[in-house]
Amino acid sequence: MQIFNTMTRQKEEFVPQKEGEYRIYVCGPTVYNYIHIGNARPMIVFDTLRRYLEYCGNKVYYVSNITDIDDKLIKKGQEEGTSMQEVARKFEAEYIRDSDGLNVKAPTVRPRATEHIGEIIHIVKDLVDSGHAYVARNGDVYFRVKSDPGYGKLSHLNLDDLESGNRELRSRMDDDLKEDPADFAVWKAAKPGEPYWESPWGHGRPGWHIECSAMARKHLGKTIDLHAGGQDLIFPHHENEIAQSECANGCTFSRYWMHNGFLNINNEKMSKSANNFFTVREIADKYGYEPIRYFMLTAGYRMPLNYTVELIESCKNSLERMYTCRDNLDFAIEHAHGTDTALVEKCEDARKKFKAAMDDDLNTPDALAAIFDLVKDINTLSDASDKATLETAAKTFDELTGVLGLLYNRKKTDSIPAEVTALVEERAAAKKAKDWGRADAIRAQLTEMGWSVTDTAQGPKLAKL
Ligand SMILES: [Zn+2]
Repeated sequence: MQIFNTMTRQKEEFVPQKEGEYRIYVCGPTVYNYIHIGNARPMIVFDTLRRYLEYCGNKVYYVSNITDIDDKLIKKGQEEGTSMQEVARKFEAEYIRDSDGLNVKAPTVRPRATEHIGEIIHIVKDLVDSGHAYVARNGDVYFRVKSDPGYGKLSHLNLDDLESGNRELRSRMDDDLKEDPADFAVWKAAKPGEPYWESPWGHGRPGWHIECSAMARKHLGKTIDLHAGGQDLIFPHHENEIAQSECANGCTFSRYWMHNGFLNINNEKMSKSANNFFTVREIADKYGYEPIRYFMLTAGYRMPLNYTVELIESCKNSLERMYTCRDNLDFAIEHAHGTDTALVEKCEDARKKFKAAMDDDLNTPDALAAIFDLVKDINTLSDASDKATLETAAKTFDELTGVLGLLYNRKKTDSIPAEVTALVEERAAAKKAKDWGRADAIRAQLTEMGWSVTDTAQGPKLAKL
């Protein structure tokens, strides 16, 4: 499989350190509110990557963290007269509910920052001891960016560009605690009333970037195979993670980097002030979770993606076509009477096209197109196919839609009540006797009972209304 590596800016063969095992870290949310629709994109994209790697027979260790200590969390706790921890636990639960709704598989580990303070202090201490970080007079600890010759390699920024950008900032800083404006906090001294932990530098709490360095090392090792997240995390978050981890560990932090593109709303940048800000929850309440998942797969993950109501509705319709095709397939299997096997080859074609698309840097739009080619073939060929062929088609269909994490809301075929079966039989007899009035009356009665009946070449087909 080829993926586009942000570090080298080219597509490369995605080869793990250990054959058949991928170690992946994806930055998770800061749990101070419901997640917004932009947050859902990396969740779905990298879950799809994980599913595909697993489908290809690999083991995937997938770590995605919970940031449960942060300025926004502290502020929200103070505003609501509760603790930071209570806010964090509440919105962590809401995040997991959305995540489950979107059919994102639970990570192998979902570590919380506040449960890794020991590991964080350990890394900060290593950085201070080796001269890569220094303690400011107020107890903050800053990473010394100039001590890392590789700094800027992911974002392809150089320190001089950063300096000029920061010059203005520096002139406005009345209390300059940093040696250099590009330096960033790995440990922050606690202000009065803030939550804190004991550390060799006094009461304080971790900076944001350091938590991912500590949790990745603890759960995946010093060198991981892939680090992924939204494009907005490249700088400074991921750049800073690399600096801290590589200076502390003395080895490559992540062998590959993947970043998904931005999500716009009605062709504009999503913002609360522009009144085009949507949470996953409010969209899911209106359209369901699955159309959101489908929507995120309609564009290549690196492309910008534009959310509109029309698009989410069209995704809902596309899903409907998939569900109908799959339900028809079940019915065809039950009533199989043909002898044709041409569909088997079509299944092979679809699988080949699907894999070729996914192998090409997770080209999900082409993978969806391969599934829809199969939908067309199933719709045309299933009537004439034999039972084994239809079963192969169903298996292939489930396999490919499953890799994309779709079609997870299939209604289990309800057992049909005896009185319904009796009525269907009575209606068939009435039709045979050309008693159309009676047949129509029974259909109306079935509708009343919540069942629809359609006459097909294989006999009457029942469905729940
Ligand atoms: Zn992170």
